[in-house]
Amino acid sequence: MAKKDRRTPQQAFVTLRDMPGTRVMFWVVDTCPYCGERHLHVAGNIRSDPGESLGEHPAPCQPDRTYELALPPQPKKKGGKDARRKARRDAKTDAWDEDTW
Ligand SMILES: [Zn+2]
Repeated sequence: MAKKDRRTPQQAFVTLRDMPGTRVMFWVVDTCPYCGERHLHVAGNIRSDPGESLGEHPAPCQPDRTYELALPPQPKKKGGKDARRKARRDAKTDAWDEDTW
């Protein structure tokens, strides 16, 4: 088994949330790979592409470590390219409508 490099950023899966009443969007790390807690990262506003703010970020709980914000793998669905595109759009809409945090 390969030895884990301490400096290799762990992947942190995120969901996109908006803040009610604002145009600000957040990436929510539901389970931090280091501490298991939830962290928020500003993803930009509604007019910018939130995907641009994915990638490596300092972990709020570990000042000398980073993690890589990544979208969770989408469940595989039957169908071709169009179905996949629709699934992605649906997933995004769900995240925006969710109001549980
Ligand atoms: Zn953490």
